[in-house]
Amino acid sequence: MFNLDGRVALVTGGSRGIGKAVVEGLARAGAKVAFVYRSSKEAADAMVSELAEQNFETFAIQGDVSSKDDAERIVAEVVEKWERIDILVNNAGIIKDGLLATMEKEDWQAVIDTNLTGVYNFAQSVMRQMMSQRYGRIISVSSVAAEFGNQGQVNYAASKGGIQGLTRCLATEVGRRNITVNAVAPGFIETDMTVAVRNAAEGEIKKRISVRRLGKPEDIANAVVFLASEEAGYVTGHVLTVDGGLTLGG
Ligand code: NDP
Repeated sequence: MFNLDGRVALVTGGSRGIGKAVVEGLARAGAKVAFVYRSSKEAADAMVSELAEQNFETFAIQGDVSSKDDAERIVAEVVEKWERIDILVNNAGIIKDGLLATMEKEDWQAVIDTNLTGVYNFAQSVMRQMMSQRYGRIISVSSVAAEFGNQGQVNYAASKGGIQGLTRCLATEVGRRNITVNAVAPGFIETDMTVAVRNAAEGEIKKRISVRRLGKPEDIANAVVFLASEEAGYVTGHVLTVDGGLTLGG
């Protein structure tokens, strides 16, 4: 689709779901891809082996995106191995839903630390490298939940709305260095994260989606590959909704 030959990408949360599809999409387009997992070592190792069989160059690094030390260590490791980082995809994310009235502080903090501070940690850690290359693509995975008033998601919506604000501000700060900063806002995607809701109400959810199907991780990966491409060089500070029409309300 787009040619990423010679490009080096770093994807957080690449071991499962959307992140896994992003790793595969970027690799198929020609990039070398490093990805971060938190606990799924077996899945991550299996992915690297499978992709190597198809002659794609990837490697997996353990780390917690909420740790600035981990972010700096991981970025240094990628630069040491492949000498550059062209594409950063901030994908790692969690949910810890609950009504605000009874939400534990730890559940608020864990979601903000992973989903939002994780973006700060990695964006800042790649910045010197991207500035010196005078090339960069930073893409963060937000959510349509940033705009919906979903009961039980104050922490998640705050983190995903925060990503959108960060994206617009950072785009203005680094555009002159040929670095673009964008976000994608997925709708309802078939991954581990949505298993419980799907089991409870898949039919009802589909009726609210214009294209009448749930999203697949590849639907998001395709949008990310576009934003990571040279051809998207004039797109910055944008939040690309990829939701099959869910937010259109019909
Ligand atoms: P999954 O739960 O399937 O996968 C989450 C991934 O993030 C895993 O690779 C996990 O690693 C990693 N991860 C979680 N916490 C950390 C951490 N602290 N440090 C490093 N890695 C971490 O989620 P999805 O694929 O569904 O979601 C991916 C992104 O898309 C998230 O940001 C999510 O909020 C967003 N999104 C998802 C939607 C959906 O419908 N699924 C809709 C809108 C947005 P490990 O395997 O090791 O645990």
